[in-house]
Amino acid sequence: MRVEVDGAPVEVPEGATLLEAVRAAGARVPTLCFDERLAPFGACRVCLVGVEGQDKPVASCTTPCRDGMRIDTRDPAARRVAGAVVELVLSELPEPPAAHTELAAVARELGVGELRWTGRVHEKRHDMRHPYLALQNELCISCGRCVRICDEVQGAFALTATGRGFEANIAAGIDAGFRDSTCVSCGACADTCPTDAITELSLLALAGTTTEEAQA
Ligand code: SF4
Repeated sequence: MRVEVDGAPVEVPEGATLLEAVRAAGARVPTLCFDERLAPFGACRVCLVGVEGQDKPVASCTTPCRDGMRIDTRDPAARRVAGAVVELVLSELPEPPAAHTELAAVARELGVGELRWTGRVHEKRHDMRHPYLALQNELCISCGRCVRICDEVQGAFALTATGRGFEANIAAGIDAGFRDSTCVSCGACADTCPTDAITELSLLALAGTTTEEAQA
């Protein structure tokens, strides 16, 4: 099937998503809850694109292509909404994400600078019971990537999504703690986490954070 991305024609297989078409065309849209190793989730609303004939931007990671579709990755409404979503996410963090994180890169890509509003901010809460991994709950943005990669790829089912809305977060071992969970220390959750909410203790140490500081 043939679609257009930013005016350029591209062939995609039946069942391809708009995001796959965008990437096949060599174009880009930022993503946050998306990880190509996982089934699309469509939760974050950052991968929005415009589609000719549609009133509102659509999530490119979960929307299937139709023959002849015209996709616009530069749609102003899509970029504006995606930027506002990222700004809201950032406003709930106690500090800006580290520059190397995917969240920081997406904020840069969408031109999100100084936040226009502040509200409730997540309090620092850390689970340091794992021998290799740190869980820094205040950095969790509920993208679900860690839970999904642990379930879908590793099959360990060690992580659980908890709470709703502002309280949404993750816990290890139904909060028995990482050490007493079914975690097999594959590191996939830390690898996919876009904010360092789950990260390797060795990387925290490299960043100059001691275990005692992280536990505080
Ligand atoms: S390190 Fe543990 S919690 Fe993280 S994905 Fe692997 S098994 Fe799951």
